[in-house]
Amino acid sequence: MEKNCKKLLLVGMSLLLSSLFAASGLLAAGGPVKDPVGIAPDRYVYYPGTEQLGQDEIRLVALGTGMPAARRSQAATCWLVELGNGDKFLFDIGTGANANMAALMIPFDFLSKIFLTHLHTDHWGDLPGLWAGGWTSGRTGPLVIWGPSGATEEMGTKYAVEHFLKAYNWDRMTRLANLASKPGQIIVHEFDYKQENKVVYEKDGVVIKSWPAIHAGDGSISYVLEWKGMRIVIGGDTMPNKWYIKYAKDADLAIHEAFMTPEQLVKFYNQAPKTALGVGTYVHTSPQAFGKVMSEIRPRHAVAYHFFNETETRYKIYEDIRQTYDGPLSMAKDNMVWNITKDNITERMTVSAEEAWGVVGPTAPPPPDHTVPDQLTKWSLDHRWNVDDVQQDMIKAFKEKYNMK
Ligand SMILES: [Zn+2]
Ligand SMILES: [Zn+2]
Repeated sequence: MEKNCKKLLLVGMSLLLSSLFAASGLLAAGGPVKDPVGIAPDRYVYYPGTEQLGQDEIRLVALGTGMPAARRSQAATCWLVELGNGDKFLFDIGTGANANMAALMIPFDFLSKIFLTHLHTDHWGDLPGLWAGGWTSGRTGPLVIWGPSGATEEMGTKYAVEHFLKAYNWDRMTRLANLASKPGQIIVHEFDYKQENKVVYEKDGVVIKSWPAIHAGDGSISYVLEWKGMRIVIGGDTMPNKWYIKYAKDADLAIHEAFMTPEQLVKFYNQAPKTALGVGTYVHTSPQAFGKVMSEIRPRHAVAYHFFNETETRYKIYEDIRQTYDGPLSMAKDNMVWNITKDNITERMTVSAEEAWGVVGPTAPPPPDHTVPDQLTKWSLDHRWNVDDVQQDMIKAFKEKYNMK
């Protein structure tokens, strides 16, 4: 890992300090500071865009770890997997995740491959923002989505995306009139939700497979990404299931939900006790059960998520997990980042820009192709109010600068 943290050291100072104290061992964070004006040792933080991945290194960033009712400190489920060969994959894109994604300042062209575990809004509710945001801000090609079928055609990913585009028809048509059409397209690869450890993606040495999960209705699944002998498992929402036990065994890093306790669901999430017990143990996986799953599959590192992570909740969830699992564990929150190699796994927090802009990638965006006409009719245009007197000088100067007719 190559690190160049100089520029952002001051910017990130307050976050850096809180992360430092949150880190597992205070002195482990690079050791003592020996020079009052020099560069400080490694502080267990990640500054996006400043770290070159090793050729055999994986970086995983949590862009959403929370609940359907997203909060400012936690969006709903979204994971970004970045590989040393330059590949990037999004797993789920839950409500609110785009803000964390934007803060990494990665060109939209590198964020076009999305793998959905299931179709609850907390796992794909921020698709509109990535779709339209990328379309207006530099993506050059279509979004590509992989996702499971359902028990019927209407419960599958293909149906969902087709009708997503229909629901957003006004958005789509008004942009088609003004922008290039290609970045507004969505390509869907739907696969059988019942398939067991079968390949859904294979390219450049990267293999992504799926197996079923058991959650609310048929059609939730889990993924494993395999690359250079390492296996990263991204568990879809589920009650504990035999497939995960079988196929996630000995994973390098295993993500699995550990839901809030039924008591917490009553106290903080306004659920009736009967609902809370069902949600916490039948629709989802309790912390104790999460621990039992991890003790069985024994990953190099376990990641628990899908709970609002705050002082009122995390200690109880952690204690419950520790009743049944004593291995390496992260209690996920947004912007947590893991670097994974065959020899080492680290957990850090991202320090990123609050006011990020879209970043241009190596490919120039295609020009508008006007596949549909202007969507404003004469009726609207006839009601324009003349403002030529206040903006004509600005328009003239702009046209001269950019050589426009
Ligand atoms: Zn769900
Ligand atoms: Zn969920």
